[in-house]
Amino acid sequence: LVVLRNVNKHFGALHVLQDIDLEIQQGEVVVLIGPSGSGKSTLCRTINRLETIDSGTITVDGRPLPAEGRELARLRAEVGMVFQSFNLFAHKTVLENVVLGQVKVRGIARDKAAATARELLDRVGVGAQAAKYPAQLSGGQQQRVAIARALAMNPKVMLFDEPTSALDPEMINEVLEVMRQLAADGMTMVVVTHEMGFARSAANRVLFMADGRIVEQNTPEAFFTAPRSERAKDFLSKIL
Ligand code: ATP
Ligand code: MG
Repeated sequence: LVVLRNVNKHFGALHVLQDIDLEIQQGEVVVLIGPSGSGKSTLCRTINRLETIDSGTITVDGRPLPAEGRELARLRAEVGMVFQSFNLFAHKTVLENVVLGQVKVRGIARDKAAATARELLDRVGVGAQAAKYPAQLSGGQQQRVAIARALAMNPKVMLFDEPTSALDPEMINEVLEVMRQLAADGMTMVVVTHEMGFARSAANRVLFMADGRIVEQNTPEAFFTAPRSERAKDFLSKIL
Protein backbone atom coordinates (compact mmCIF):
# COMPACT_ATOMS: atom_id res chain seq x y z
CA LEU A 1 0.00 0.00 0.00
CA VAL A 2 2.86 2.36 0.87
CA VAL A 3 6.14 1.88 -0.96
CA LEU A 4 9.38 3.79 -0.41
CA ARG A 5 12.25 3.13 -2.80
CA ASN A 6 15.75 4.36 -2.16
CA VAL A 7 14.54 7.44 -0.32
CA ASN A 8 17.13 9.99 0.78
CA LYS A 9 16.71 13.24 2.63
CA HIS A 10 19.11 15.80 4.07
CA PHE A 11 18.66 18.63 6.51
CA GLY A 12 21.66 20.69 5.41
CA ALA A 13 24.70 18.51 6.05
CA LEU A 14 22.69 15.95 8.03
CA HIS A 15 21.74 12.87 6.01
CA VAL A 16 18.56 12.19 7.93
CA LEU A 17 17.11 9.43 5.73
CA GLN A 18 19.58 7.13 4.01
CA ASP A 19 18.51 4.75 1.24
CA ILE A 20 15.20 3.88 2.85
CA ASP A 21 13.44 0.93 1.18
CA LEU A 22 10.15 -0.01 2.73
CA GLU A 23 6.96 -1.71 1.64
CA ILE A 24 3.93 -1.59 3.87
CA GLN A 25 1.18 -4.04 3.01
CA GLN A 26 -2.52 -3.36 3.29
CA GLY A 27 -3.63 -4.09 6.85
CA GLU A 28 -0.10 -4.24 8.20
CA VAL A 29 0.86 -2.64 11.52
CA VAL A 30 4.46 -1.45 11.48
CA VAL A 31 6.06 -0.14 14.66
CA LEU A 32 9.04 2.14 14.19
CA ILE A 33 11.53 2.41 17.03
CA GLY A 34 15.02 3.75 17.46
CA PRO A 35 17.10 6.32 19.33
CA SER A 36 16.20 10.00 19.42
CA GLY A 37 17.24 11.74 16.23
CA SER A 38 17.36 8.54 14.17
CA GLY A 39 14.82 9.89 11.67
CA LYS A 40 11.57 8.21 12.77
CA SER A 41 9.44 11.35 12.70
CA THR A 42 11.01 12.50 9.46
CA LEU A 43 10.24 9.16 7.84
CA CYS A 44 6.59 9.38 8.92
CA ARG A 45 6.32 12.95 7.73
CA THR A 46 7.65 12.14 4.26
CA ILE A 47 4.77 9.68 3.74
CA ASN A 48 2.17 12.45 3.79
CA ARG A 49 4.56 14.98 2.33
CA LEU A 50 4.94 17.16 5.37
CA GLU A 51 8.60 16.75 4.37
CA THR A 52 9.92 16.60 0.83
CA ILE A 53 12.61 14.09 -0.16
CA ASP A 54 15.83 14.66 -2.09
CA SER A 55 15.80 11.43 -4.07
CA GLY A 56 13.94 8.16 -4.41
CA THR A 57 10.22 7.54 -4.78
CA ILE A 58 7.25 7.16 -2.48
CA THR A 59 3.90 5.80 -3.64
CA VAL A 60 0.65 5.41 -1.73
CA ASP A 61 -1.77 2.94 -3.29
CA GLY A 62 0.31 2.91 -6.46
CA ARG A 63 0.38 6.68 -6.95
CA PRO A 64 3.39 8.93 -6.46
CA LEU A 65 2.95 11.66 -3.87
CA PRO A 66 1.44 14.81 -5.40
CA ALA A 67 3.42 18.03 -5.00
CA GLU A 68 0.65 20.51 -4.26
CA GLY A 69 -2.92 21.68 -4.58
CA ARG A 70 -6.06 19.59 -4.35
CA GLU A 71 -4.19 16.37 -4.95
CA LEU A 72 -1.99 17.06 -1.94
CA ALA A 73 -5.03 17.78 0.23
CA ARG A 74 -6.48 14.45 -0.89
CA LEU A 75 -3.25 12.65 -0.03
CA ARG A 76 -3.25 14.21 3.44
CA ALA A 77 -6.76 12.85 3.88
CA GLU A 78 -5.76 9.38 2.68
CA VAL A 79 -2.73 9.33 4.95
CA GLY A 80 -4.02 10.21 8.41
CA MET A 81 -1.53 11.46 10.95
CA VAL A 82 -1.71 11.69 14.73
CA PHE A 83 1.03 13.54 16.58
CA GLN A 84 2.29 13.71 20.12
CA SER A 85 0.57 17.07 20.55
CA PHE A 86 -3.07 16.66 19.70
CA ASN A 87 -3.35 19.66 17.37
CA LEU A 88 -7.10 20.05 17.75
CA PHE A 89 -8.75 23.32 16.77
CA ALA A 90 -9.06 24.94 20.20
CA HIS A 91 -11.92 27.28 19.30
CA LYS A 92 -14.08 24.51 17.75
CA THR A 93 -16.13 21.93 19.59
CA VAL A 94 -15.08 18.30 19.61
CA LEU A 95 -17.83 17.48 17.11
CA GLU A 96 -16.82 20.35 14.83
CA ASN A 97 -13.20 19.19 14.93
CA VAL A 98 -14.29 15.89 13.41
CA VAL A 99 -16.82 17.44 10.99
CA LEU A 100 -14.63 20.16 9.49
CA GLY A 101 -12.23 18.18 7.33
CA GLN A 102 -14.99 16.00 5.97
CA VAL A 103 -16.87 19.06 4.74
CA LYS A 104 -13.88 21.10 3.55
CA VAL A 105 -11.62 18.43 2.05
CA ARG A 106 -14.01 15.61 1.24
CA GLY A 107 -16.95 17.81 0.21
CA ILE A 108 -19.35 15.79 2.36
CA ALA A 109 -22.67 17.40 3.36
CA ARG A 110 -22.67 18.74 6.92
CA ASP A 111 -25.49 16.45 8.16
CA LYS A 112 -23.79 13.34 6.92
CA ALA A 113 -20.42 14.53 8.26
CA ALA A 114 -21.93 15.14 11.69
CA ALA A 115 -23.46 11.65 11.72
CA THR A 116 -20.09 10.11 10.82
CA ALA A 117 -18.38 12.25 13.46
CA ARG A 118 -20.77 11.07 16.20
CA GLU A 119 -20.27 7.47 15.17
CA LEU A 120 -16.48 7.84 15.30
CA LEU A 121 -16.50 9.74 18.60
CA ASP A 122 -18.58 6.89 20.08
CA ARG A 123 -16.16 4.35 18.64
CA VAL A 124 -13.17 5.97 20.39
CA GLY A 125 -15.19 6.42 23.59
CA VAL A 126 -15.68 10.19 23.68
CA GLY A 127 -19.20 10.47 22.29
CA ALA A 128 -20.37 12.18 25.48
CA GLN A 129 -17.84 14.99 24.97
CA ALA A 130 -19.04 16.05 21.51
CA ALA A 131 -20.29 19.50 22.54
CA LYS A 132 -17.24 20.39 24.63
CA TYR A 133 -14.13 22.30 23.60
CA PRO A 134 -10.74 20.53 23.50
CA ALA A 135 -9.44 22.35 26.60
CA GLN A 136 -12.28 20.81 28.63
CA LEU A 137 -11.03 17.28 27.85
CA SER A 138 -8.24 15.21 29.36
CA GLY A 139 -5.16 14.56 27.24
CA GLY A 140 -6.26 11.00 26.57
CA GLN A 141 -9.67 12.18 25.45
CA GLN A 142 -8.16 14.86 23.21
CA GLN A 143 -5.89 12.32 21.59
CA ARG A 144 -8.85 10.02 20.94
CA VAL A 145 -10.65 12.97 19.30
CA ALA A 146 -7.57 13.52 17.14
CA ILE A 147 -7.74 9.87 16.08
CA ALA A 148 -11.46 10.20 15.29
CA ARG A 149 -10.73 13.31 13.26
CA ALA A 150 -8.15 11.48 11.17
CA LEU A 151 -10.46 8.48 10.74
CA ALA A 152 -13.25 10.77 9.53
CA MET A 153 -11.24 11.38 6.37
CA ASN A 154 -11.49 7.68 5.59
CA PRO A 155 -7.71 7.22 5.40
CA LYS A 156 -5.99 4.29 3.70
CA VAL A 157 -3.17 4.41 6.20
CA MET A 158 -2.69 6.00 9.62
CA LEU A 159 0.61 7.37 10.86
CA PHE A 160 1.08 7.76 14.61
CA ASP A 161 4.10 9.70 15.84
CA GLU A 162 4.49 9.05 19.58
CA PRO A 163 0.76 9.45 20.18
CA THR A 164 1.02 8.70 23.91
CA SER A 165 4.26 10.48 24.80
CA ALA A 166 2.57 13.63 26.06
CA LEU A 167 0.00 11.75 28.16
CA ASP A 168 -0.13 11.05 31.87
CA PRO A 169 0.46 7.34 32.54
CA GLU A 170 -3.15 6.56 33.40
CA MET A 171 -4.30 7.87 30.02
CA ILE A 172 -1.83 5.99 27.87
CA ASN A 173 -3.77 2.76 27.86
CA GLU A 174 -7.07 4.24 26.75
CA VAL A 175 -5.35 5.60 23.64
CA LEU A 176 -3.39 2.40 22.99
CA GLU A 177 -6.63 0.44 23.33
CA VAL A 178 -8.23 2.52 20.56
CA MET A 179 -5.14 1.90 18.41
CA ARG A 180 -5.23 -1.85 19.14
CA GLN A 181 -8.86 -1.93 18.07
CA LEU A 182 -8.05 -0.06 14.86
CA ALA A 183 -5.29 -2.54 14.13
CA ALA A 184 -7.63 -5.45 14.81
CA ASP A 185 -10.16 -3.90 12.42
CA GLY A 186 -7.54 -4.07 9.66
CA MET A 187 -6.28 -0.49 9.45
CA THR A 188 -2.85 -0.10 7.88
CA MET A 189 -0.72 1.67 10.48
CA VAL A 190 2.76 3.05 11.02
CA VAL A 191 3.38 3.74 14.69
CA VAL A 192 6.38 5.46 16.26
CA THR A 193 6.22 4.58 19.93
CA HIS A 194 8.17 3.77 23.06
CA GLU A 195 5.35 1.51 24.23
CA MET A 196 6.98 -1.85 23.76
CA GLY A 197 3.93 -3.66 25.11
CA PHE A 198 1.93 -2.22 22.22
CA ALA A 199 4.67 -3.18 19.77
CA ARG A 200 4.68 -6.76 21.05
CA SER A 201 0.93 -7.18 21.03
CA ALA A 202 -0.19 -5.20 17.98
CA ALA A 203 2.69 -4.97 15.49
CA ASN A 204 3.15 -7.30 12.55
CA ARG A 205 6.63 -5.93 12.08
CA VAL A 206 9.10 -3.86 14.07
CA LEU A 207 11.51 -1.56 12.24
CA PHE A 208 14.57 -0.40 14.12
CA MET A 209 16.10 2.85 12.85
CA ALA A 210 19.47 4.38 13.69
CA ASP A 211 21.28 7.25 12.00
CA GLY A 212 18.72 7.58 9.23
CA ARG A 213 18.77 3.93 8.24
CA ILE A 214 16.49 0.98 8.80
CA VAL A 215 19.09 -1.14 10.56
CA GLU A 216 16.94 -4.13 11.32
CA GLN A 217 13.38 -5.36 10.91
CA ASN A 218 11.58 -8.42 12.15
CA THR A 219 8.47 -9.74 13.81
CA PRO A 220 8.11 -8.35 17.33
CA GLU A 221 8.76 -11.80 18.88
CA ALA A 222 12.00 -12.24 16.97
CA PHE A 223 13.13 -8.64 17.36
CA PHE A 224 12.60 -8.41 21.11
CA THR A 225 13.96 -11.83 21.97
CA ALA A 226 16.86 -11.92 19.53
CA PRO A 227 17.90 -8.57 18.08
CA ARG A 228 20.71 -9.06 15.56
CA SER A 229 22.53 -5.73 15.39
CA GLU A 230 24.65 -4.24 18.16
CA ARG A 231 22.72 -0.98 17.81
CA ALA A 232 19.42 -2.71 18.46
CA LYS A 233 20.81 -4.75 21.37
CA ASP A 234 22.21 -1.59 22.91
CA PHE A 235 18.92 0.29 22.39
CA LEU A 236 16.81 -2.50 23.91
CA SER A 237 19.11 -2.87 26.89
CA LYS A 238 18.43 0.78 27.70
CA ILE A 239 14.66 0.75 27.36
CA LEU A 240 13.53 -2.70 28.50
P1 ATP B 1 12.85 11.53 18.47
O1 ATP B 1 12.82 10.13 19.00
O2 ATP B 1 13.62 12.45 19.35
O3 ATP B 1 11.48 12.05 18.11
P2 ATP B 1 13.31 11.03 15.63
O4 ATP B 1 13.87 9.68 15.38
O5 ATP B 1 11.87 11.26 15.40
O6 ATP B 1 13.72 11.48 17.11
P3 ATP B 1 13.65 13.14 13.69
O7 ATP B 1 12.74 14.11 14.33
O8 ATP B 1 13.18 12.47 12.46
O9 ATP B 1 14.16 12.04 14.74
O10 ATP B 1 14.99 13.92 13.40
C1 ATP B 1 16.10 13.32 12.80
C2 ATP B 1 17.22 14.33 12.74
O11 ATP B 1 16.88 15.40 11.88
C3 ATP B 1 17.57 14.97 14.09
O12 ATP B 1 18.95 15.09 14.18
C4 ATP B 1 16.89 16.31 14.01
O13 ATP B 1 17.58 17.24 14.80
C5 ATP B 1 16.97 16.64 12.56
N1 ATP B 1 15.85 17.45 12.10
C6 ATP B 1 14.53 17.14 12.19
N2 ATP B 1 13.75 18.08 11.64
C7 ATP B 1 14.58 19.04 11.19
C8 ATP B 1 14.39 20.29 10.51
N3 ATP B 1 13.18 20.72 10.17
N4 ATP B 1 15.50 21.01 10.20
C9 ATP B 1 16.73 20.57 10.52
N5 ATP B 1 16.99 19.39 11.15
C10 ATP B 1 15.93 18.64 11.48
MG1 MG C 1 10.31 11.97 16.57
